[in-house]
Amino acid sequence: MMRQIGQISQIRRANYQPIIGLEIHIELKTKSKMFCGCPADHFGKPPNTQTCPVCLGLPGALPVPNRKAVEWTIMAGLALGCQIPGESKFDRKNYFYPDLPKGYQISQYDQPLAISGKLGNIGICRVHLEEDTGKLVHVEKATLIDFNRSGVPLMEIVTEPDLTSSDEAKEFLQNLQRIIKYLGISEADMEKGQMRCEPTVNLEIKKGNLTVYTPLAEIKNINSFRFVKRAIDFEVQRQFEEFERTGIEKQAGNKVTRGWNEQKGITILQREKEEAADYRYFPEPDIPPMRFERKNIEDLRKKLPELPEKRARRFIREYGVSEYNAAILIENKGKADFFEEAVSYARELEKPPGTKAIGDWIVNKRVDLAKTSPENLLKAILAKAGAATLDDSELIAAITSVLGINQKAVIDYNNGKEPALMFLVGQVLRRTKGKGDPGQIRLLLEKELHDDKKR
Ligand SMILES: [Zn+2]
Repeated sequence: MMRQIGQISQIRRANYQPIIGLEIHIELKTKSKMFCGCPADHFGKPPNTQTCPVCLGLPGALPVPNRKAVEWTIMAGLALGCQIPGESKFDRKNYFYPDLPKGYQISQYDQPLAISGKLGNIGICRVHLEEDTGKLVHVEKATLIDFNRSGVPLMEIVTEPDLTSSDEAKEFLQNLQRIIKYLGISEADMEKGQMRCEPTVNLEIKKGNLTVYTPLAEIKNINSFRFVKRAIDFEVQRQFEEFERTGIEKQAGNKVTRGWNEQKGITILQREKEEAADYRYFPEPDIPPMRFERKNIEDLRKKLPELPEKRARRFIREYGVSEYNAAILIENKGKADFFEEAVSYARELEKPPGTKAIGDWIVNKRVDLAKTSPENLLKAILAKAGAATLDDSELIAAITSVLGINQKAVIDYNNGKEPALMFLVGQVLRRTKGKGDPGQIRLLLEKELHDDKKR
């Protein structure tokens, strides 16, 4: 009986499509705050030790924008495939809350720093810059305010509502976090509040020829990837049940705010209604609008590092590592750099281990990068090699013979045709009946070919 009910519910569920958008806040790790000279690194500091008249909102204090924070936000926008408009400005977002000493937050309203990007197949609506608020600390019978966080540069990224599942949302956020860390503009640690995510969720429901939507809910107070997934799953199920029960549809322009309750694993209604007009946005009169020349933008684009996804593809192509290992090697920039340092060190050796083997070793042995160097890693690999690998003389013989009978490929390679090398690797592997590490063969071939050229 139970099973039957489950099946019925699943059939009906097919007519419901979750629509999910994400609003992500990321604290930038600039030395100083957004509009004053106070240190921006506030985590774990004694309360109210990093403040000044500007970030305390005292009368007469004037904000001066942090240039680095503006540049980093533009770089993040570029990394997310955004367009950078030639002009941008700051606005005041007015609301009353004790953690906001000025009674308004300096943010960006209608002219964000970056617009219209894409990460994977998810649209990026905008990327803008604002200041963080203070922090409320609840103690017994009282609430205290710590202003160390007040005025810390906060980048906001808003996606299009292109996501359709909690898994997709989690994956997107992990991907985004990796990019931010590669850019070196934030540690983006969710548990430390350096990266915060507010999903907006509702359901699209097909009723015959009709499409209707459930009320849009924004979920706040989520502090880990795991909880992003759980909060979205809960909210989708809750909206599904609520619609079944009440049939209430979304009203244009309206959004409810719900808070994630970690202990109970549920979302709780916080505010019924929220509209942009409530904030009485207007241009910040103390900060002139910003203008960017094309050249400034292109200079920032040149500063972008090779981003993780591209790097993974290159590792597969150039070093023959598996797709799975490539994904692990690019997890963080430090690990990817370590791998490439080990590879370049290997090139110097008389008998290098294969690049694929180096990658395998780092992944399979869970090498603690803090405790070893690329050189020592190679020594360890070479010491363990031997029995498992192909006999050297057998391999050298195969390479010599392949180079001898494939002169055209050799000439092609010497003329700069890179694919010829992969062809030669394939020929060597055929001769060794698949034994041998393609990465190692590649390195040995390169060495032979370069020596050849010198002669
Ligand atoms: Zn300050």
